[in-house]
Amino acid sequence: MLLSITSRTPDATNLGYLLHKNPARLNDYSLNFGRAKVFFPTARPDECTAVLMIEVDPVGLVRSAGAKQGDWALGQYVNDRPYAASSFLSVGIARAYGSALNGHCAHLPELADAPLILEARLPVIQAPSEEVLKELFEPLGYEVQCSRLPLEPAFPAWGESRYFDLTLRGTLPLHHLLKHLFVLIPALDREKHYWIGPDEIDKLLAKGEGWLAGHPRRAWITDRYLKYHKRLVREALERLAPEPEEGAEEAVEELKEPPVEKKISLHEVRLDRVTEVLVEHAPASIIDLGCGEGRLLQRLLNKTKIPRVAGMDVSSRALEIAKERLERGVAQAKRTGRLLLFNGSLIYRDSRLRGYEAAALVEVIEHLDEDRLDSLEEVVFADAAPRLVVVTTPNREYNVLFETMKPGALRHGDHRFEWTRAEFQAWAGRVAGKHGYQVTFEGLGEEDPQHGPPSQMALFQRGT
Ligand code: SAH
Repeated sequence: MLLSITSRTPDATNLGYLLHKNPARLNDYSLNFGRAKVFFPTARPDECTAVLMIEVDPVGLVRSAGAKQGDWALGQYVNDRPYAASSFLSVGIARAYGSALNGHCAHLPELADAPLILEARLPVIQAPSEEVLKELFEPLGYEVQCSRLPLEPAFPAWGESRYFDLTLRGTLPLHHLLKHLFVLIPALDREKHYWIGPDEIDKLLAKGEGWLAGHPRRAWITDRYLKYHKRLVREALERLAPEPEEGAEEAVEELKEPPVEKKISLHEVRLDRVTEVLVEHAPASIIDLGCGEGRLLQRLLNKTKIPRVAGMDVSSRALEIAKERLERGVAQAKRTGRLLLFNGSLIYRDSRLRGYEAAALVEVIEHLDEDRLDSLEEVVFADAAPRLVVVTTPNREYNVLFETMKPGALRHGDHRFEWTRAEFQAWAGRVAGKHGYQVTFEGLGEEDPQHGPPSQMALFQRGT
């Protein structure tokens, strides 16, 4: 079983320092189920590849304590364990690349967190489908290339196997790549070679730190990584996301209009104005990021002629509601061929967000922790980079005028922050400057002379 990792960031041979290996040497480690070897077939300043090869001893496996009996006589000797990427590979990664996995680099410490142009190839990995591979790796910012392997190349008529040749390309720190692989390889594999105990949760959460909690498929990953041990899965998900899992009642609650705003139906005002602004700019395509229950999408389909309309949200429950709403509230003729809904997260680069002329983020940014806004900025303004972006968010200064609100409270339980006009304008101004946009601001709702409007909108435009 092989994992090769290539760096193309000059000097690419720094990969040797990062992996704590001398590219000129063969490194050999013993594991309790076989051996791990690391070698560098290429080590040039422009390209350097490290191959981790795991040799599994299938007979040794059978003899080791707790070995699982195959369900046919030779199953225990003839199986995919020696070549298909599995939890054995994760053990090999931890053994051979332990420091790199934990983000340490003794020789060049600053390199450990530096994004590198990386490519990882797993020539044989089991997966339910190509879509699943994409759903797992694309939200983490990878370009995914995969092809299904034939069952037996000499006999094409036998059909396809359940294995893929997978290549991932991305620009990210090496330890991020290793952590993604450490968790996702065993999740994709159907078996796990050792007993799953509670310390597996700690391992999963440690290696999943910073990316698993916001991953749209986190429930699937956790379920498979812990091999469907219900109690462990539940505990892991609770620790992973203090906020409710997708589909929970509260997630739906979060989509509803904050009750304090109800009297003036501020949300309607907002959505109508955003729709108007979009119509004025006549984009050929638009994506509603954090589309929630699909209220803006409904307006876009009914009231505009924008040919391509997409909605994305981190909550699959919200998307289900959006789908129902759009099926009920929009004639089929107006939807057909125009609408796409998908699950994703705004904090991970995602190729599916590219190629739209306009994007809307209506009451979304305040649902993200403030330290995640830099990621959102990268995803929306640097990577997807539509020529028009509309962002709305509450104006905190106005909160004193909501009679039912306690001083200092936020309008909604899931809001992580609410900004004053100055704070919003400072953020938006900096983002615009950095990514080559012009930004203008507009108040939404009836303006108070002292506290301003209840909600605020920024319109970012980029020259073509
Ligand atoms: N734009 C909608 C919903 C606003 S509520 C409307 O105006 O009606 C905020 C939405 O942001 C929720 O649907 C929530 O699931 C979504 N959201 C929160 N964090 C997200 C993330 N990281 N990526 C994508 N969507 C997110």
